[in-house]
Amino acid sequence: MCKGREDHRAGLGVGAAPEYHGCMVDAPVSADSVPRKRVLLAAPRGYCAGVDRAVQTVESALERFGAPVYVRKEIVHNKHVVQTLEERGAVFVEENEEVPEGSLVIFSAHGVAPDVHETAASRNLRTIDATCPLVTKVHKEAVRFADEGYDILLIGHEGHEEVIGTTGEAPEHIKLVDGPDSVDSIEVRDPAKVAWLSQTTLSVDETQQTVAKLKTRFPLLLDPPSDDICYATQNRQIAVKQIAGDCDLLLVVGSKNSSNSVRLVEVALEVGVPASYLVDFASEVDPAWFEGVTTVGLTSGASVPENLVQDVLELLAAHGYAEVEEVRSAQEKLLFALPHELKRL
Ligand code: SF4
Repeated sequence: MCKGREDHRAGLGVGAAPEYHGCMVDAPVSADSVPRKRVLLAAPRGYCAGVDRAVQTVESALERFGAPVYVRKEIVHNKHVVQTLEERGAVFVEENEEVPEGSLVIFSAHGVAPDVHETAASRNLRTIDATCPLVTKVHKEAVRFADEGYDILLIGHEGHEEVIGTTGEAPEHIKLVDGPDSVDSIEVRDPAKVAWLSQTTLSVDETQQTVAKLKTRFPLLLDPPSDDICYATQNRQIAVKQIAGDCDLLLVVGSKNSSNSVRLVEVALEVGVPASYLVDFASEVDPAWFEGVTTVGLTSGASVPENLVQDVLELLAAHGYAEVEEVRSAQEKLLFALPHELKRL
């Protein structure tokens, strides 16, 4: 039987109303003293609105225009998604120079710098921009702060595609802050004219620490007009925290280059889950991890299709974890329209 959790969940989640939980599989409680093996399945998990839109954009382009459709960078950071689209005729490239002149190219959900649009135009490429609208929002904030003469402290991970894209909007004005430890070395032109922005997929807690440290150095630091860490990132971290206290092990389905997925493992460990692992596929789960484990937590990153989670549930059931309780901390209803270029082209 599932235990009620509504009292703990009320009010959690970003831009969303709390929802009841459901038991997907109910195992009878045994009378003996053997601990009951179970899975706590976090919700929300998996696809966010921006990933859904980006993947649908490639699928739709393949249907309308036929293969090959070129995609600059991984459309979203998930091995399975990329492999599946490749099988359907998508060709993933690193740069526009690899795309034949005049061909169709799609830009990934992580966003691109203005010079990427320029090189595409110089090669007569037809482009579809699948940048998540929540990343575009950060780009616009960067442009506005730069236009007003601010130096922008961009909190994010060096080398991440989203950070490269946002920085490209105002390279003269943006300084990367890669976590609290890099605050001390930041140099700005005028400490009275600084603002901060962030990558959309960071740890909420670590970002708050970084901002607090920045504010001790720059008391006049200006906040962004609204949260840059997106609703999906926040909700998935809250959902992990919600189940963490009851888990002996927490599995995150996601790819190693997926920032929001990696953050879920970090969040789990930070709030005290004894062990947490990131796996792309069920086949990567090591049964040795189950040693002494009664409750397994399970979630997935924002770029992970649900069938990969179901594969892990099947594997867990095969190891005795057949009882599954979904613990939902927020309901997500956001949807984004497909890029307008799909119609124009
Ligand atoms: Fe957009 Fe957030 Fe999803 Fe990234 S994780 S694609 S910013 S909704």
